[in-house]
Amino acid sequence: MAKDELWHGIPRKDIPWFPTVDADTCIGCTLCYTTCGRGVYEIQDNKAVPVNAMSCMVGCSTCGTVCPVQAISFPDRDLVWKLEREHKIFKVVRQEAKEKMAKQDALKARAAAEDAVAKLTTRVRFEVAGEFGEKRFLVQMEDAVKDKPYDLVNLRLEVPTVQGATQKTPAFMSFEVTSTEQEDIQGFLPAVRALIRDNGLTLVSENKL
Ligand code: SF4
Ligand code: SF4
Repeated sequence: MAKDELWHGIPRKDIPWFPTVDADTCIGCTLCYTTCGRGVYEIQDNKAVPVNAMSCMVGCSTCGTVCPVQAISFPDRDLVWKLEREHKIFKVVRQEAKEKMAKQDALKARAAAEDAVAKLTTRVRFEVAGEFGEKRFLVQMEDAVKDKPYDLVNLRLEVPTVQGATQKTPAFMSFEVTSTEQEDIQGFLPAVRALIRDNGLTLVSENKL
């Protein structure tokens, strides 16, 4: 917290809550330095020095708790309670809590919506092998998606040879079935499989993307 910031409406600079290190007792173990997430400490000449004392979180005493030689001290907790009373901070605190809850609710709602979308199957890649020459597979697929919220994208047809195509050489096709409205396409997939089967083609793979 920067010096000019507020702690529940009270200027942080007006709150004398910070650690004091007894340099004679400190053994330079660095635990306070590595524990504090606010960058309060530096280690100088093998001693912990609270160089950014006012960045200490008001009410926190973690470094003092973990210090193995009890070299860190804090003001009495009465000081914080007195400030809370004098500045009547709880109106501000309640408003802050309201805003925090609203933010948390929004985050939860967003996570739930993302989770629901992740569970949907909106795109499936099919790989199909067989002889496509005289078959009307693509035309039938086109009919199947017509006026429906589905589409066929990234369609690829691999024909080994041009002459082979006329001689009914097996070819390979891949395509993706997608939802045009980001909705679940599971209900449409049986129709795709049926068309593949009814055209005498082989379904090589079917993968949700
Ligand atoms: S935890 Fe205690 S002994 Fe270790 S560096 Fe910090 S003040 Fe010194
Ligand atoms: S009390 Fe907490 S915030 Fe303050 S210096 Fe120690 S670990 Fe950091």
